[in-house]
Amino acid sequence: MNTPYDSLYLFIGGKWIDADGRKTATVRNPATEEIIGQVPLATADELDLALEVAQKGFEQWRNTVPAERARVLKRAADLILERTAHIAAQMTLEEGKPIGEAMDEVTRAAEYFEWFAESARRIDGRVVPANRPGVLQLVKRQPIGPVAAFTPWNFPAITPARKLSAALAAGCSVILKPGEESPSTALALARALDDAGLPKGVLQVVFGVPDEVSSQLIASPIIRKVTFTGSVPIGRLLSSRAAEGVKPITLELGGHGPVLVFDDADVERAAVEGVANRFRGTGQVCISSTRFLVQRGVYQQFVDQFVAATKALRVGNGMHPHTQVGPLANLRQLNKMEELVADAVAKGAQVLAGGEALPGPGFFFAPTVLADVPMDARVMHEEPFGPIAILMPFERLVDGLAEANRLPYGLSAYAFTSNARTAIDVADGLEAGMIGINQYRIVATELPFGGIKESGHGSEGGIEGIEHYLTHKFISQV
Ligand code: NAD
Repeated sequence: MNTPYDSLYLFIGGKWIDADGRKTATVRNPATEEIIGQVPLATADELDLALEVAQKGFEQWRNTVPAERARVLKRAADLILERTAHIAAQMTLEEGKPIGEAMDEVTRAAEYFEWFAESARRIDGRVVPANRPGVLQLVKRQPIGPVAAFTPWNFPAITPARKLSAALAAGCSVILKPGEESPSTALALARALDDAGLPKGVLQVVFGVPDEVSSQLIASPIIRKVTFTGSVPIGRLLSSRAAEGVKPITLELGGHGPVLVFDDADVERAAVEGVANRFRGTGQVCISSTRFLVQRGVYQQFVDQFVAATKALRVGNGMHPHTQVGPLANLRQLNKMEELVADAVAKGAQVLAGGEALPGPGFFFAPTVLADVPMDARVMHEEPFGPIAILMPFERLVDGLAEANRLPYGLSAYAFTSNARTAIDVADGLEAGMIGINQYRIVATELPFGGIKESGHGSEGGIEGIEHYLTHKFISQV
């Protein structure tokens, strides 16, 4: 496939502003290291303009009847689906993931627009019986106001889609700042919304120096809601900024997903599908299974099958249809994998597969399996946001659960067992917002997506996903 990379823009007040004559950031294809684009960075004045038009856009959009909001979102979903092949190719060029994964992500992004298009028409309220005669008590749900949304580089379609679809369905306007390293995909979503008839000013897409953009936008009294997907430290920072203005914030901050494989499980399935799950997106997936905790009786079988399946993975340029694992998204990520593995090995870990960067060009790191990793290794505490799997044995359910819940993260967790009692106990005991039993495919448009503990708060998707963009107002009338 030889798709050219799209030109990059800011999108403010319905105008597409190109990179000519302004400060830019470089976009690199992580599979080749070639520079493929220059993303324009918004000035402080342009961010002020984005805020001003977002306020006007909000006034218009909140007064647009829900059925019309739904029509726009549904049309956008259809356009995204029609353009799947093009958008997916943009994503693979800028982020590196295999083209099949990119196509799947675009399709699922479109599903969020469909889902929330339907939700737009169901934002109803309540009539609450009064305890005094002749009083009418109404509870209305209304859009919270202009939203500042920050999304990272690893899922450049689905993460913006989760935020935009719900916020727009609720009647909010949005200023979206996608990751500067994979900007084209989010712009393609904005293009679809623009083409679908979203009124000018309801959505702005800006890029810039992330810290400058977030401090200016969050401090503005125009912004009434913040939503962020990314790392825990940045989530904490944005949370404190939002707190200054007493603004609610939704945070999705990654995890270190444990998998518990019990003696009575379908071990082969847990291992083979575990490899597919762990190395999808080159491991740069917040809900990925990262720590495979396997009950002693089946540990060796699991190790053998997991290692064999890992070694069989085809690593390469994501544009090649046979590639199963693409490059890491950037050099920072590659350096981090090298550091995490070197640290674990220096402390006594065994490398059962991979363990090193692959020859360039491109930010390739071999799918890596570590065993006997000591507790003081960094990778046992830090999210290994890349192609590293940790295998470790456990004895009793209580031991497995203790290790699974050891970290401050609580995003995803998985368990494999054929015993119904064990399945219930482990699902109850795991401290995570999303749990897969005997499967790794846990995300669905209809389900709430989000974590607990330091993995964040607030859910995106499901019937819950729209709630954070709505306020409750009661009207008591005699
Ligand atoms: P980072 O925390 O610097 O950046 C993550 C995202 O946040 C990027 O899109 C970045 O543009 C944005 N960002 C950074 N500083 C910001 C600020 N002050 N205001 C607003 N946005 C800001 O991390 P990184 O180097 O890109 O990745 C490092 C680690 O972050 C990864 O190894 C992983 O653990 C985590 N991460 C998690 C997710 C997720 O899906 N939860 C996504 C990306 C990164």
